[in-house]
Amino acid sequence: MKIIGLIGGMSWESSLEYYRIINETAKLKLGGLHSAKCLMYSVDFEEIEVLQHQNKWDELTNIMIDAAEKLKNGGADFIIICTNTMHKMASDIEERVGIKVLHIAEVTGEKIIQKGMKKVGLLGTKFTMEQDFYKKVLKDKFNIDVVIPNENEREILHEIIYNELCKGVISGDSREKYKKIINNLSLNGAEGVVLGCTEIPLLIKQEDVNIPVFDTTTIHAISAVEFALDK
Ligand code: GLU
Repeated sequence: MKIIGLIGGMSWESSLEYYRIINETAKLKLGGLHSAKCLMYSVDFEEIEVLQHQNKWDELTNIMIDAAEKLKNGGADFIIICTNTMHKMASDIEERVGIKVLHIAEVTGEKIIQKGMKKVGLLGTKFTMEQDFYKKVLKDKFNIDVVIPNENEREILHEIIYNELCKGVISGDSREKYKKIINNLSLNGAEGVVLGCTEIPLLIKQEDVNIPVFDTTTIHAISAVEFALDK
């Protein structure tokens, strides 16, 4: 079993889910008392969030590279970044640290293709929805078209992520807002919806909506165990 290096803490509410799902998957696949060999470097999310909203992406890249180096030095065989947003610098980490990064959009793209879908909605932070780094992976590697919510809806989604979900606040009102936005994406042609922020699955479950959801936290965590066990 390879050692999984997790860059976590963005936020720790979702890192907790990663740790649980990774170990549950190892138990399911290997039985007995098996659990996953892993290391987590967990950042202080306040520092990260401030830099994100100041658009200081170079500084953030350096912080992520430093985290990945610590994990590599600690014995990690590959890295997973436990947030969609910070995949903005996934290729910088891979190149500058010299370690494989198992990309969250790539493993999610594989699941979308397996379901035979060509067009999906994307929910996440404004950075993930509006910038190119995430949608480009789905388009270039899998030829999947991505629809995003309108500007007002993106603002609502973003605020709920940072002000509620990353603080462990799960509200029925916010769930209704998310459901309405997902419904609008479906009316705009989305065959499924990517929950492209690792805290959204804390709020939205498959049974809440009537199109297939792609829970990036679960997909990424299970894929990490499969990669770790792949000879
Ligand atoms: N966990 C979130 C994501 O998957 C947002 C936190 C962050 O900005 O990294 O994008």
